[in-house]
Amino acid sequence: MKLKIDGKTKIYGVIGDPIGHSLSPAIHNMAFRKLGLNAIYLAFQVKSENLVRAVEGFKALNFQGFNVTIPHKTSIMSLLDKVDPLAEKIGAVNTVKNVDGKLFGYNTDGLGALQALKKSKVKLDNKKIVLIGAGGAGKALAFTFANYAKEMVILNRTEEKAVKLSKTISENFSLQVKGLKLNYENLRNELKNADLLVNATSLGMYPNVDKTPVDKNLINQNLVVFDVVYNPLKTRFLKEAEEKGAKIVNGLSMFIYQAVEAFKIWTGLNPPVKTMFKVALKELKHRK
Ligand code: NAP
Repeated sequence: MKLKIDGKTKIYGVIGDPIGHSLSPAIHNMAFRKLGLNAIYLAFQVKSENLVRAVEGFKALNFQGFNVTIPHKTSIMSLLDKVDPLAEKIGAVNTVKNVDGKLFGYNTDGLGALQALKKSKVKLDNKKIVLIGAGGAGKALAFTFANYAKEMVILNRTEEKAVKLSKTISENFSLQVKGLKLNYENLRNELKNADLLVNATSLGMYPNVDKTPVDKNLINQNLVVFDVVYNPLKTRFLKEAEEKGAKIVNGLSMFIYQAVEAFKIWTGLNPPVKTMFKVALKELKHRK
């Protein structure tokens, strides 16, 4: 179906800073077209000092919903009328829905990651997970994976954040969990008997493509290695893990599935996942 804009067009979007490289407009607009919905999705660069006014404007203009990305995922929360309990615990919101002028916040990142692993036939039940990163993505993944794993080790550059997150997880779940500083020694000790190794930091993301969170000599073929970074599609971390014989899962799948969950929250409909993948891959290719 062709793009049609008229007086009834529903408006959605994403706010962040920077935002120019977002893949979200491409995949959501395609999904709207494919399902024949009279809706449009736009990207808005919103500086932190303008967040309050931007959200007021969205409400006043009756935007139907929007995604939230770096650096607003936490600061948006106090501006919403209600935050879903999971997003509240995570301390970050990536999806907002406008219901009759009231804004409801959700976090679909964890579900996106879970679905991405499921599609790659990776099971988390009774597994030991080594999770690198305790920022917004790290927290979402920790809260989601803790429902399944037997053991979790969270490593972060800023150690206090890893320790704090591990305490919150242990208060909410029954698995064995600890927070450590991200360094070679701790990785070496923890990776020996781990099943899943996850990068939930921005290390390796374009343009810093030569960065990686883990020395490749610490990666073994028994690991599943998952990177939340999706630009580039195959990060240095994933390339080296593959060289070491590990099964790898890239961040694009998580990105698509977090968008699928957001789309469902907004419209109650299932978007065309395969076409979303195609569009996202095409977009990423054009950027090289
Ligand atoms: P965030 O809240 O700003 O957290 C950033 C994390 O990266 C923190 O753990 C931070 O450690 C760590 N970090 C940053 N630079 C580092 C460095 N040089 N060395 C070691 N650690 C470093 O950001 P976020 O929202 O969690 O996002 C993290 C990444 O996930 C981004 O690349 C984002 O694009 C990606 N992401 C992907 C998806 C997806 O759907 N695939 C969804 C969400 C996010 P400190 O605490 O020490 O600063």
